[in-house]
Amino acid sequence: MKAGIVGLPNVGKSTLFNCLSNAKAQSANFPFCTIEPNIGVVNVPDPRINKLEELVKPERVQMATVDIVDIAGLVKGASKGEGLGNQFLGNIRECNAIIHVLRCFDNDNIVHVDGSVDPIRDKETIDIELQLKDLETVEKRLEKTKKAAKTGNKEAQVETALLERIREALLQAKSARTVVAQNQDEEALLEDFQLITAKPVLYVCNVNEESAVNGNEYVEKVKELVKDENAEVIILSVGAEADITELESYEERQIFLEDMGLTEPGSAVLIRAAYKLLNLQTYFTAGVKEVRAWTIKVGDSAPKAAGVIHSDFEKGFIRAEVIAYNDYVSFGSEAKVKEAGKLRVEGKEYIVKDGDVMHFRFNV
Ligand code: GDP
Repeated sequence: MKAGIVGLPNVGKSTLFNCLSNAKAQSANFPFCTIEPNIGVVNVPDPRINKLEELVKPERVQMATVDIVDIAGLVKGASKGEGLGNQFLGNIRECNAIIHVLRCFDNDNIVHVDGSVDPIRDKETIDIELQLKDLETVEKRLEKTKKAAKTGNKEAQVETALLERIREALLQAKSARTVVAQNQDEEALLEDFQLITAKPVLYVCNVNEESAVNGNEYVEKVKELVKDENAEVIILSVGAEADITELESYEERQIFLEDMGLTEPGSAVLIRAAYKLLNLQTYFTAGVKEVRAWTIKVGDSAPKAAGVIHSDFEKGFIRAEVIAYNDYVSFGSEAKVKEAGKLRVEGKEYIVKDGDVMHFRFNV
């Protein structure tokens, strides 16, 4: 699963990407410095895995991860080929969710492509480009489905009606995610269209260090603007976070954070929010060789969850032995959980819960 970082040039995308992934994407005070899409694999901070590590003392620990993609080249006119043109749009289409970075800091030394700091205008600029691109996609598809609908094809009629609704929304400068599916067919179609503005989004307000805790007036404006979108707004001082990642020791980083009034880096908050936005959750396997967090979708069944480890586990699934995370921690070990009769045996229908500690039985 991938989350793509979008925003105008010079709002702090690459810097954020670097802090998240510690990859060496270039970051310079220069528009278009990130020309190739950069993909970073990011660990999802989760105190539960540290707790399990403490209890099990395994040889190694593997955290859950999310792929983060730094998407460059989004400027006014991009949908019509300005800047890096359409190159970036394919990269967004491949993402499952969008992290939209807005510049909410003043700094005369850092050029703004539109001459002044205004996150409301910036958001609109980006939204419009994405909506125009979607409009193109929708209109192309409408041409085909309209013809088929005329011949009496029921499916094409359903599709046409939905496309018309989306088109209407886009023409009113509303994103496709504001169009709500009326039934499962429409839901499936919406997925199939792969529209950029239908993807779930969260906003990152990039502020100066002193505003990292309480935000500033730009942030207030952004919050007001998106209040009906049901989207999360995260305040983050990308510049300060970048400085923190430069520090060698954990203690130094903690002191820096405390000085800023934070208990953990904003990037950790962001990654967890992205994980949630992607509708992901975690289950654990806890053995002496390895304690590991595995990523599944909310609502996945036990066999599906097993399939994340290996497809054979899913095919040959017999049953799962499940310990709720809280039980594992309060009893302290698998053996004690068993003694207490808290280990459950679950079958194919079981819907895995966030934090379950699982062990699968399967045929090969
Ligand atoms: P991108 O074009 O959106 O990828 O932007 P970059 O990450 O390359 O950042 C552009 C410039 O803004 C760089 O010089 C960064 O160091 C600087 N910058 C990024 N975030 C902040 C911030 O929170 N505060 C300040 N003052 N500068 C920042």
